[in-house]
Amino acid sequence: MFEQREELRRRLLALGFDEVRFARAEPAFGDQLKTWLAAGHQAEMAWIERATEKRGDPRLVLPGARTMVMLGVNYGTLHEKREDGAPLWARYALHEDYHDTIKPGLVAAGKVVEELFDAGPEDYRYYVDTGPVQERGWASRAGLGFTGKNAMLISRRFGNWLFLATLLLKEELEPDGPLVASMIGRDEPGMLCGKCTRCIDACPTAAIVEPGVVDARRCVSYQTIENKGVIPRELRGGVGAHIYGCDVCLEVCPWNRFAQEARRVLLTVRGEIAELSLQEILELTPARFAEVFRKTAIKRVKLAGLLRNACIVAANTQSTDCLEVLVRLAGDAVPLVRAHAVWAVARLGGFERLVAVRARETDPAVLAEYTAETG
Ligand code: SF4
Repeated sequence: MFEQREELRRRLLALGFDEVRFARAEPAFGDQLKTWLAAGHQAEMAWIERATEKRGDPRLVLPGARTMVMLGVNYGTLHEKREDGAPLWARYALHEDYHDTIKPGLVAAGKVVEELFDAGPEDYRYYVDTGPVQERGWASRAGLGFTGKNAMLISRRFGNWLFLATLLLKEELEPDGPLVASMIGRDEPGMLCGKCTRCIDACPTAAIVEPGVVDARRCVSYQTIENKGVIPRELRGGVGAHIYGCDVCLEVCPWNRFAQEARRVLLTVRGEIAELSLQEILELTPARFAEVFRKTAIKRVKLAGLLRNACIVAANTQSTDCLEVLVRLAGDAVPLVRAHAVWAVARLGGFERLVAVRARETDPAVLAEYTAETG
């Protein structure tokens, strides 16, 4: 069993996974998840509420499962280039959608399992992020890292920059165990954080409400990616220059001193996105949006969502050079864009230029912005 496990590990590492560790498939995390859901921290992410029972027991995901193979893909960049004043993107987003680029690695991993254990496709299952598996908790259990006070998996080898994936097996393999012995049977967020509270202190919207608990409703990542509607006015200032996602609670973490440059076997970098100016983003047409963000996760927010975020960034960064395009967006066909453009124009001191637009306005969300700004 030991030789087979090590052979599997060796071959999965060769496929491009940077971490391959094993845990026993058994019930776990069910109570934690129920408490988090009961507090409403999932906001509108209803998909987390589905399959709660399965999330608490991997044997319900794959009947007969005995082993969780927890996989990590490092996406660290040690020499990040950032244009001065350019909008900020979550690092993970500056790649082709990792769900798509990691998937071929998992397909190949399945073939390795079939070969090594004389198994069939019914003897394993894999997921990257989207399955009913508490990946971060299992990764911690398997020893890929620990859950930090920022609620992210923190690796002693790669800092905060690991994508996670899971391979469930019916084959029984010896578990690796957590990072340190004191973590056995416990998964308390912040166990290896010590007295550090940098992520809690740095969060621009105070979204980390207690160690390891992020209130998604306050989180800039949630608001700029998952929220499909109006971003609450009281959170817009906290969005700062973050146009898509936010890495503040990851970037401030001292464990990043262990970060390594990614191998990028299962990743494709799309660094050119970070070079887009705010003006270029605000001027995107549907065709150009589709072209620029092809194959990336960013396309999920659609053009309207990105323009909404860009309006907020323009106001927060006092980008008066964007006033002209913002006035134009205040007459956009999509009410969501109009509402945020109105707000941004008002914040940039150009409100009188909107009077003509206001005369034609009928959408309540947009009118609410006028009213809030002018009383
Ligand atoms: Fe833990 Fe500090 Fe990292 Fe937050 S920033 S996860 S408190 S070590």
